[in-house]
Amino acid sequence: MKKVVCILCIFCGFYSAFALDRQAFTFTDYDLKIKVTPATQSLEAEGKVTLRNDTTQPQRNPVLQISSTLAWNFITIAGKPAQYLPQTYTSDIDHSGGLSEAVIALPQPVPPQGTIEIELSYSGKIQQDNTRLTRVGVPEEKAARSDWDQISESFTGVRGIGHVVWYPIATEAASLSEGTQVFEGVMAWKERQSGSRMRLSFCWPGDAQLVANGQNVAAAMQPDGLSCQAVQYQPVGMVVPAFVLGSYRALNQPPMAVQYVAGHESYARTWAAAGEKIAPFIVQWFGPRKRPVQVVELPDRDMYPYEGGGVFFTPLVRGEEKDIQVVLAHQLAHASFQSPRLWMDEGLAHFAQALVRGQQDGRAAALAYMDERLPPLQEAEKQFQPTRRRSGAPPTGQSLVNASDEVFFRTKAMFVWWMLRDMVGDDALEHALRAYRPDQDKDAAYFQRLLAAQFHRDLEWFFDDWVYRDRGLPEFHIAAVYPRKLIPEDWSVTVAVENSGSAGAEVPVAVRAAQGEERKRLEVRAHEKNAVRIPIPVVPQQAVVNDGSVPAFDMGHSSAEIKTPDASH
Ligand SMILES: [Zn+2]
Repeated sequence: MKKVVCILCIFCGFYSAFALDRQAFTFTDYDLKIKVTPATQSLEAEGKVTLRNDTTQPQRNPVLQISSTLAWNFITIAGKPAQYLPQTYTSDIDHSGGLSEAVIALPQPVPPQGTIEIELSYSGKIQQDNTRLTRVGVPEEKAARSDWDQISESFTGVRGIGHVVWYPIATEAASLSEGTQVFEGVMAWKERQSGSRMRLSFCWPGDAQLVANGQNVAAAMQPDGLSCQAVQYQPVGMVVPAFVLGSYRALNQPPMAVQYVAGHESYARTWAAAGEKIAPFIVQWFGPRKRPVQVVELPDRDMYPYEGGGVFFTPLVRGEEKDIQVVLAHQLAHASFQSPRLWMDEGLAHFAQALVRGQQDGRAAALAYMDERLPPLQEAEKQFQPTRRRSGAPPTGQSLVNASDEVFFRTKAMFVWWMLRDMVGDDALEHALRAYRPDQDKDAAYFQRLLAAQFHRDLEWFFDDWVYRDRGLPEFHIAAVYPRKLIPEDWSVTVAVENSGSAGAEVPVAVRAAQGEERKRLEVRAHEKNAVRIPIPVVPQQAVVNDGSVPAFDMGHSSAEIKTPDASH
């Protein structure tokens, strides 16, 4: 008891005067030895981190956080034990829902842009943990499929920030019950440390293989029976360091490099063949590959896949080759095309999946693939729909250029790329994508200009409604249909379409008959009406707006029966 009181006395002087700024320091350099022992489910780390004061004020309280299931053994500065306050900090940045935090009290403050090197050691167990997910109501089974990280004899796989804080970080608390707070916290951390260097020296007992999503720099077998592998991230970039450990085998079949669990060679071959088959199609769209596609097997078929650092961690479950091709289209697109903008980087990778689905079985199959992903987007956009908003209230929402919600930068972006493709054609879009240079993408309109160079039509309204602002989704209905009989066999049908939504679109309009259909495209701006005349050589029966390529509200009100006048008039 006396000791506790004493510690508090020491610290009240250091901490009481000001609020703690957990983001004052950037972690510029990591050099850690990490011992992983599956038999005891444990991780032991020792090494040093370098922190830089990125504020304009001198700082004396650097914060170090690790998973709440790990504990600090020592923290020293220049060989001397540092004074620090260990505490538990509730945050869903870690699968356990908490962090072991060390708030250090420096004898001398670090000046702005000054750095400090901290030696440290921590250890503990990393077991599969559903805490953060089940406490926000995710069912146990689903939580385990998502938060699969663990060190154990049956499976060892651990991802970093956003999953398990197995290397020290410093972040503000984030809660899964607060929308995208965890995602945003992780993104902010990644951006802040993107220029940092991380050198990790993994060691483990036995002869298993360690596969990490960094660059392997050296491997060695130690005399004490430990296998070791040094991995480097230089810079870390936007990568979340992650590793798996197991009896992995490698299959290199360009453009694929598959690491599979011993005994699963036939699955690995199926994946490699699927990737090889669609690779030329993806290159044609997104340009030459900048790296191979690395696939690392997760041994349990129920585990949710994870991508990061150019590595795709996934179960190699038995599946239709077509489905595997659609999955790999995403990874191949990433290998060819990179952008600092999520709606491009991720949106295009999802668009690539729809493209491959279309190449397999035609446009209808691609639209069905996209349609399966539409309901969460409709749900997310509902709150921005003017008819559901208080009159006069300004529109809110997430513009694609700034979106941090996955439903926007993945699903909505996928639809936007598909609509652009329909509007400008494959050639113009492919040329614009291949002309894209991530280092030149300095302002939001950069890509629109690349496209304008290929396609000489006004696209400003489209980018405004869909990319630069969130205007919700269109809401189409057929306002009127006028069929007219021409020479003996031919008909002309004028279809008027009204868009009561706040986002305009160019939408396909079809006139159907028993023998087939004719279609045209029609631009219908927000809150406007427009009409198109569609000739058809047989008796028309039905007019339909939107084949599913434009994400809209109320897809059910999009057709009208055509009452043809008596043929004798
Ligand atoms: Zn992706």
